Amino acid sequence: MEKIAVFPGSFDPFTVGHESIVNRASKLFDKIIIAVGLNPKKDALFTLEERKNFIKQVFEDNPKIEIVHFEGLTVEFCKSVGASYILRGLRTSADFEFERAIAQVNKSMYNDIETVFLLTITEHTPINSSIVRDIYRHGGDISKFVPLKMKISKK
Ligand code: ADP
Repeated sequence: MEKIAVFPGSFDPFTVGHESIVNRASKLFDKIIIAVGLNPKKDALFTLEERKNFIKQVFEDNPKIEIVHFEGLTVEFCKSVGASYILRGLRTSADFEFERAIAQVNKSMYNDIETVFLLTITEHTPINSSIVRDIYRHGGDISKFVPLKMKISKK
């Protein structure tokens, strides 16, 4: 059976931290669906279409990666695409506490789903999309924090 993982997130914008998680996970799964969603708790910068297009540039040569927009419950989305795994990245113990509850609740809603966590590499620990958004909004240089192939024009 094909091993399909969904990597859900807001990816506003996609960072080198996300890229590294996807690249490492692509050795574990046959297919990874990057599911771009809106997080109402976060102050959005890029539209869903822009976020998806940025991510497409990064993985255009990797046939294992699919990029879609999604809304609603992650487990329902997983069922609809035949995915048995949810992929998430962990940076800190705060991430762990947040992710633990979501993964356990997802498992209780859909027993066939497993959440797989990859620990970030050391140098990506401080990188998060909200800091990158702040730098961008203030006209700073974000090139260090986003994938090389991702072309975001300066604000
Ligand atoms: P969400 O709104 O779902 O938290 P994010 O786009 O912020 O979406 O993050 C998506 C996933 O990527 C989460 O599992 C998050 O922990 C992980 N992630 C974010 N930044 C990094 C990073 N620098 N290194 C590893 N994982 C990361």
